[in-house]
Amino acid sequence: MKQIILTGDRPTGRLHVGHYVGSLKERVRLQNSGTYDEIFIMIADAQALTDNAEQPEKVRQNIMQVALDYLACGIDPEKSCIFIQSMIPQLPELAFYYMNLVSVARLQRNPTVKSEIKQRKFEASIPVGFFCYPISQAADITAFNATAVPAGEDQEPMIEQAREIARKFNEVYGETLVEPNIVLPSNEASLRLPGTDGKAKMSKSLGNGIYLSDEPDVIKSKIMSMYTDPTHLRKDDPGHVEGNPVFTYLDAFCRPEYFGEFLSEYENLDELKAHYERGGLGDVTVKKFLNNVMQSELGPIRERRKEWEARLPEVLEILKEGSKKAEQTAAETLAKVRSSMKIDYFDNDNLLK
Ligand code: ATP
Ligand code: MG
Repeated sequence: MKQIILTGDRPTGRLHVGHYVGSLKERVRLQNSGTYDEIFIMIADAQALTDNAEQPEKVRQNIMQVALDYLACGIDPEKSCIFIQSMIPQLPELAFYYMNLVSVARLQRNPTVKSEIKQRKFEASIPVGFFCYPISQAADITAFNATAVPAGEDQEPMIEQAREIARKFNEVYGETLVEPNIVLPSNEASLRLPGTDGKAKMSKSLGNGIYLSDEPDVIKSKIMSMYTDPTHLRKDDPGHVEGNPVFTYLDAFCRPEYFGEFLSEYENLDELKAHYERGGLGDVTVKKFLNNVMQSELGPIRERRKEWEARLPEVLEILKEGSKKAEQTAAETLAKVRSSMKIDYFDNDNLLK
């Protein structure tokens, strides 16, 4: 079986370092590993509209921003097909058929949807489109016959639901769809990077992110005002590294060589953590180190982003070409789906029999 990746992001804002460690970095690694036959990367504008229906301009503006973030991180349009979800009309048609295979109760049980409903304060006025987005996401994944979906931990319930839909479809209509697997980042801290405010998830919608396009002074001021351990009041107090986002970011970003470069009093992260837990290590020292680490990691990405910013017509061309290619693949899957469901009326004479 062909090894195929489908993954993507909602154009609700520029991408932040949570996206980078949770998904983008892994995508670039997989892209360059040569293990995959095809890679599709989707800018999920239709999904973004499910909870931003009244802000179409925000979604529109962020399409190019997300594309720039991809290219900046090393997504190579020669190897990965980057496309825009709403340009592929086969996707909503697939979702429409899949809707018949999922119960309302099953959607209500999806823990990610539950917490997102709470976070967005939808209460009794959940848009139907938003409620059903896991089904639309199953359509996106299965349309490309994806075997692997590199994503952050919050996507686990979505991929599980996509697997269920594919299985149910195959049971009812015969073997047609491929069941996908999630590919989580191998680094534990990257599964769900917390926000600079200490909230459980860095998220575009919560305004607690460090963005890939942030300038060095912005990164520094965000880091220096980050939430740390509230019980670590004085330098000599013993501190906690668990649940302390400064250390979680170091877990996600720090390479051993940065100690030699920026903080040679310590051999490695374990030593630094032990000192913090013992007491005697101030937040400012750790934050300054983190700032040096993040500047080193993000500098080259920001520079590459600027190079692409000067070539926007080329970026648009990449999206056009990618969407054309993606539509061909989705059309092939839709034809198979229609044939399995026997609703390909004009492709055969079945209606006459
Ligand atoms: P929104 O708030 O609009 O939902 P988001 O920040 O959650 O935006 P998405 O576009 O929904 O971003 O997610 C894109 C991808 O990035 C998904 O694979 C998701 O798992 C991953 N991701 C998002 N935030 C984080 C995070 N804080 N840590 C790790 N992975 C993340
Ligand atoms: Mg999200």
